[in-house]
Amino acid sequence: MVSALVSKSASSWLYSGIRGFLKYAFGAISLCIGRDCIILGVMVAYMHQKILIYSDLDGSLLDHFSYSFAPAQSLLGQLEQLKIPVIPVTSKTRAELLPLRQALGNRHPFIIENGAAVFIPHHYFPSPPAQCEQYKGYYCHRFSQPRSVWQALLQQQTTEFGGEFVSFTDMGCEGIVEVTGLSEESARLANQRDYSEPVLWQGSQERKQQFIACLQLAGATVLQGGRFLHVTGECDKGLALTWLTEVYRHYHPDSEFLTLAAGDSGNDIAMLEAADKALLIKSPVHESPVVNNNCCYHSRNYGPEGWVEGVEHLTGITVPTTSISNITRND
Ligand SMILES: [Mg+2]
Repeated sequence: MVSALVSKSASSWLYSGIRGFLKYAFGAISLCIGRDCIILGVMVAYMHQKILIYSDLDGSLLDHFSYSFAPAQSLLGQLEQLKIPVIPVTSKTRAELLPLRQALGNRHPFIIENGAAVFIPHHYFPSPPAQCEQYKGYYCHRFSQPRSVWQALLQQQTTEFGGEFVSFTDMGCEGIVEVTGLSEESARLANQRDYSEPVLWQGSQERKQQFIACLQLAGATVLQGGRFLHVTGECDKGLALTWLTEVYRHYHPDSEFLTLAAGDSGNDIAMLEAADKALLIKSPVHESPVVNNNCCYHSRNYGPEGWVEGVEHLTGITVPTTSISNITRND
């Protein structure tokens, strides 16, 4: 009995000793080599820390014009190998995201329609997550009322703002193709919305602010995307990020989570401010929004190239040079 206790105590000491040695050894080596290695050293020493990357798609992980993610493909593979989830957070619909998620080889939860709902694949966590309903093959947590509520509210605005805005419902697939440059099939998927209605504003900036104020007064949340105003319920990408991170924490109570958010537009602000680290990606078509996060990196490059630049900078993870030479760029 005594020898068992001594043996257990000795093992525990040995374990603590090795853990302490590794922790300080990595710290010391890192300090000698430089800042990037400090990040890597700390990451290796604290093996229980988990990184979650929440990423906007259009203009961030996807090129604003071509919708290509080719420049980020190697880094995405590297992150998957390191078991770092990249969680798509988008203004897109579930219908449009599913084929894209497949093309990305992404198997993680996803957030659609600007934070209106979070979808979690079955068996992703060991038990069904709380506060979710089963919806179309996923566990779903909703933040917003259905699209029909926002369609009706916009219809009411035509009295005062008629001719100054056009919604997805007004445009139909043909109009969506014209405005976005999407294919007919992609436009059809973009129009399969569950919780929000995109609006193209055609009036002056001053009238736009009045329009937004009217919608907010009626209970809507209005988010500025790259091209559209998104009219939806009380939700944003930041609330969705916070909720989903708590779900990860619930299933990994012994882990520390570090959240990194990447985005380029006004509808990403809440997410960029809710995350521990923010990556603000330079846009070729609009000014960067103001983000209140003490750890915010502004990319020099646009779209997926800016995404790679920022994720590498903020995590210290880089793609091996052999992989970089194999990237197929289509821009
Ligand atoms: Mg964007």
